[in-house]
Amino acid sequence: MIYAIVGMGRSGLAAKKYLERKGLNPQEIVTFDAKSETADYRDPALMMSEVRPSVLVVSPGVPLSLPWIQEAQASGVRITSEISLACEALTSEKVIGVTGSVGKSTTVALLGAGATAFDPHAFVGGNFGVPFCEYAVDLLSGVRPKATWIILELSSFQLENCEGLSLNLGAITSLTANHLERYRDQEHYYETKGRLRNHCRGPIFLNRAGGDLEGWAATHPGHWVLTDPSSSLLAPHDLGSAKLIGRHNQENLALAASLALAAGWPKESLTAMKAFPGLAHRLEDAGTLRGVRYINDSKATALSSVLIATHSVLGTLQEKNDLFLLLGGRDKNLPWKELSELASHQQIHFLFFGECGAIAQSASGLSGPVFPHLKEALEHARNKAKAGDAVLLSPGGTSLDEFKNFEHRGDYFKEFVQSS
Ligand code: ADP
Repeated sequence: MIYAIVGMGRSGLAAKKYLERKGLNPQEIVTFDAKSETADYRDPALMMSEVRPSVLVVSPGVPLSLPWIQEAQASGVRITSEISLACEALTSEKVIGVTGSVGKSTTVALLGAGATAFDPHAFVGGNFGVPFCEYAVDLLSGVRPKATWIILELSSFQLENCEGLSLNLGAITSLTANHLERYRDQEHYYETKGRLRNHCRGPIFLNRAGGDLEGWAATHPGHWVLTDPSSSLLAPHDLGSAKLIGRHNQENLALAASLALAAGWPKESLTAMKAFPGLAHRLEDAGTLRGVRYINDSKATALSSVLIATHSVLGTLQEKNDLFLLLGGRDKNLPWKELSELASHQQIHFLFFGECGAIAQSASGLSGPVFPHLKEALEHARNKAKAGDAVLLSPGGTSLDEFKNFEHRGDYFKEFVQSS
């Protein structure tokens, strides 16, 4: 039986490793990727006629609606996925699956912090972090013990193709219009996320404030449980004292904590969730310098994220303290005017930097100096800020004018704080 792995990104590579570890010999595995020099095939028609695979392991980035995949399926070729392969290796592990339009990674990381507090072998991964097959490979190789709990982030693409996935509990963080390049319409996208219920034996927890989620669930049958930071069930756990900042993160935490309680996790898991400092580059606490807090939100390349981050940090400041907001990078025709609502906040000092600094300043109508690079803007903030103030990098623009990617830009920001 020949397996063809379709799409050789991180999950495709992990699926290949899993099949090798399972004992298939090299002639039984072929790889296809239209864009990769190293894949065995770049032309699907050639692969299908030369190899005649019995199984296609289709990566989430490759639409199942492609005509050649549809034809293969119609002619009896089995379609599977990296997620389904990993599920073959499970025995007694309990699995929580998390999906949603935004907030997935944060919720998964919070659950990961909670699970590892009492199960040191818990696995956290999937669409975020480590591909699920890596767990199966390590288990089969004997390099890791079995997890009691597995926390999986699942994208809508993964939910289209995950036969065999069986969850104990599930969560949906939010539903907002997204990925309309791949789905017929919004309902089609929402319904794909809602497929989580076809794979879940227990309840699915829903963030009440998650965009269209509550309304969608009201008209679609499922074992839904709505969660809310002000729920009386959560009151004894004092989630307001958590390290993560921002209303949206309180909602993510309420969702994760509700799951932890439903799963019967011990008290230390909630303590660990409250101590979670945030994912790297998303409202991440980058440290304090002479009483000034530095916050790294380098991932924010949408103005909605900039607004969420700015309001989150403002909510933590005393009235007498100021916020230095670093905006700029490379423009992608952003509607900077959307930031004009921030002009009414006297506490904010706007500092513009990088390739689009001047554009961001004039298009937003906000006043503040423009610097050629992030470095000069940071130096300015460091000279002006006083104890109790905050410096927030939530740039709006991409990092590509000065950096390799948003992680590189965020690491530069953190290094600046550490080396000052
Ligand atoms: P995902 O993994 O779904 O992309 P993340 O947890 O990485 O989501 O968060 C990405 C961004 O989405 C955050 O920086 C924040 O701006 C926004 N966000 C996170 N959680 C929520 C939420 N519950 N509601 C609205 N926006 C959110």
